[in-house]
Amino acid sequence: MKIGIVGLPNVGKSTLFNAITKAGAESANYPFCTIDPNVGVVTVPDDRLEELRVMNNSQKVIATAIEFVDIAGLVRGASKGEGLGNKFLSHIREVDAIAHVVRCFEDGNIVHVEGSVGPIRDMETINLELIFADLELLERRIERSKKVAKSGDKMVQRELEIIEKVKGILESNRLIHEKDFTEEEWEFVKLLQLLTAKPTLYIANVSEEDLVGEENQMVKELKEHVKDDDAEVILVCAKIEEEIAQLEDDEKQMFLEELGLQQSGLDRVIQAGYKLLGLITYLTTGPQETRAWTITEGTKAPQAAGKIHTDFEKGFIRAEITSFEDLKKAGSPSAAKEKGLTRLEGKDYVMKDGDVVLFRFNV
Ligand code: GDP
Repeated sequence: MKIGIVGLPNVGKSTLFNAITKAGAESANYPFCTIDPNVGVVTVPDDRLEELRVMNNSQKVIATAIEFVDIAGLVRGASKGEGLGNKFLSHIREVDAIAHVVRCFEDGNIVHVEGSVGPIRDMETINLELIFADLELLERRIERSKKVAKSGDKMVQRELEIIEKVKGILESNRLIHEKDFTEEEWEFVKLLQLLTAKPTLYIANVSEEDLVGEENQMVKELKEHVKDDDAEVILVCAKIEEEIAQLEDDEKQMFLEELGLQQSGLDRVIQAGYKLLGLITYLTTGPQETRAWTITEGTKAPQAAGKIHTDFEKGFIRAEITSFEDLKKAGSPSAAKEKGLTRLEGKDYVMKDGDVVLFRFNV
């Protein structure tokens, strides 16, 4: 699962991406990850891991990770091929979600491609390019379908109606959201792989001074603007993130406290990105290791077990599950069992975030 970082030039994308690669995860633990200079792998911060490690005296801890892709080069006119535009747009097709960086800091030394700082205009500039690219794709699709539809195929007729609906939304300069469609329509819309239908979060890149205290006017306006899209806006100062990413954990904590922050902006971006992708975490823990595993929401126990090993899925018998919160309250796995907080779940159990699991299986 990959998140693409997009935004106009000079808004702080590379700075943020540098922070991501510097904070980077040890690649040995994440063999699934792509080796590509434009891809950064980061571990997903999760305080529960450390608590479980202490509880079970685990020798090591393995967090889960997600990938960010630096998609630089999007400019006004990209959909018409400006600045290698189409190439960058095709990179966006390959990601599962979008983190859209918007410049909300003033700095006379850093040129703004549009001549002045204007977060809403900037954001709309990029979104318009995505809209144009999708409209073009839809036109081609309509032409193709119309040829087939002549034979009176009901299915194709229905698809054409849905495409027209999507087109209408895009032509009024809006992005595509599930809530505007029926379930049947949405199943088809998903197949179109539209750029404008990708889950999106906005990263407001603010100055160091604006990171704490009252939000600056630009951020307020941005939040108001994306409210109807239910999109999250996360404040970061990319420059500071780059510095933080180079620190050791304890130094990092001290630095954050000095700044008056609980968590780094990057950590918040990672956690929001994880949620945006519809991912949840289950945990395994023991003396050898405490580990977080990523699954998509709605995954059932056997498939979750399959993440660890295919044999776990094939030979699945049951899962012994304690929620992290219950385990914490009980103080240890054995105490949780005594208190009846550990459940036995079968193959139809839908996993929840924070489930601490022991799988039982036949070999
Ligand atoms: P990109 O073109 O979007 O990748 O932008 P860069 O990350 O290259 O940033 C453009 C310039 O803005 C660089 O000189 C950065 O040092 C600077 N910059 C990035 N983030 C911030 C920030 O939060 N505050 C300030 N003042 N400058 C920043």
